[in-house]
Amino acid sequence: MTTIDAIVSDLEARFDDVALGHVRAWKQAGSGRLAIGCLPVFAPREVLWAAGALPVFVRGAGDRLETIRGDAFYQSYICHLPRSTLELGLLGHLDALDGMIFPNTCDVIRNLSGVWQTTFPQHVARFIDPPQTAEPASAAAYLRHELTALHHDLCARSGVAPTAERLIAAIADVDAAHAAADELAAARRAEPWNLPVDEVYLLRRAADSMPPAAWAALARAYVAAARRRGRKPEDRIRVCLVGAFCEQPPRALLRAAERAGCYIVDDDLTQGVERCGPPPEVGDDGDPMAALALAWLRATRPSAVRYDQHARAGHELVARVRACGADGVLFAAPSFCDPALLDQPRLTRVLDQHAIPYTAFKYAENTGQFQAIREQAGTFADSVKLWGTA
Ligand code: SF4
Repeated sequence: MTTIDAIVSDLEARFDDVALGHVRAWKQAGSGRLAIGCLPVFAPREVLWAAGALPVFVRGAGDRLETIRGDAFYQSYICHLPRSTLELGLLGHLDALDGMIFPNTCDVIRNLSGVWQTTFPQHVARFIDPPQTAEPASAAAYLRHELTALHHDLCARSGVAPTAERLIAAIADVDAAHAAADELAAARRAEPWNLPVDEVYLLRRAADSMPPAAWAALARAYVAAARRRGRKPEDRIRVCLVGAFCEQPPRALLRAAERAGCYIVDDDLTQGVERCGPPPEVGDDGDPMAALALAWLRATRPSAVRYDQHARAGHELVARVRACGADGVLFAAPSFCDPALLDQPRLTRVLDQHAIPYTAFKYAENTGQFQAIREQAGTFADSVKLWGTA
């Protein structure tokens, strides 16, 4: 039986391994293996995995590294993620990667893709622009075309045959990890006192760079060990954390918010490795790439970085709040993050209509002072407990 302390200690070591030693080890364990970095928030993990490439989410360096060189590339009014990502690259910490994928998340990541191509010419750098419409015929065909080109490109480098069978197997592998992530999320909603947010966060960050089946086994081992703690629930409110989908808050900030009187029972951290809709279903045409493209278009969870054609993001957030039994919402946005900050008014308008309390704060990935945020979260929790509103 693995103890919770042993699991958490391993997760911490993996999280602190900013030079990706664990990815290097995975590559060296087999021939022809690739590792491809993926910027938030869209990564076609199944396509990479089918091509023999480990998808590795690169979410900046957080507070684990001082950013010096990366700062020289950007103005002061740009979020922190591209700076620390460049710092990682310039220090050689991303040398284990064979390439980087830049989705069209925002102007900053689009710009970073160009900077990357000129600064790291040894990397394959691909810019992916997922369609911003749910109009199925042309959008699915376009996305299928883009993913197929990426698949063939990576297969040519790894020497793996780009077959439908391999892609179907990769879809099943990633879906198995999604099933384990669903179990983890359900366990946290049921017993947040046994599964604290900073541990669950470490576990989910491990999913950023682990083979899907290995991560699924680890997640199930963690849930079993965490439940054995048998802690008692404390008098805290339950909250959804919204807005931290790209640049990540420091782990200590998550811990501080919880200890101030909240259980964070749902969030959009680590977007890209969680299921955001029904799994791909290969149709009668036997075309798994078409199924993947359709699954992405049908993804049910709205996001600040996707065009919300039917203005359903606020209502989906209300549904999430209800589903996880949350008492309110914590909006946590990276400083200068246009997608997260511009999304807030349309979400809060709907929360107001449903009398769901919320509060908002900003952070940077290397924020070192949490006192103000701790006080704000604590006051929010007390207000909701006393008056049912913020
Ligand atoms: S934190 Fe926001 S602005 Fe910065 S790269 Fe991510 S989505 Fe773009």
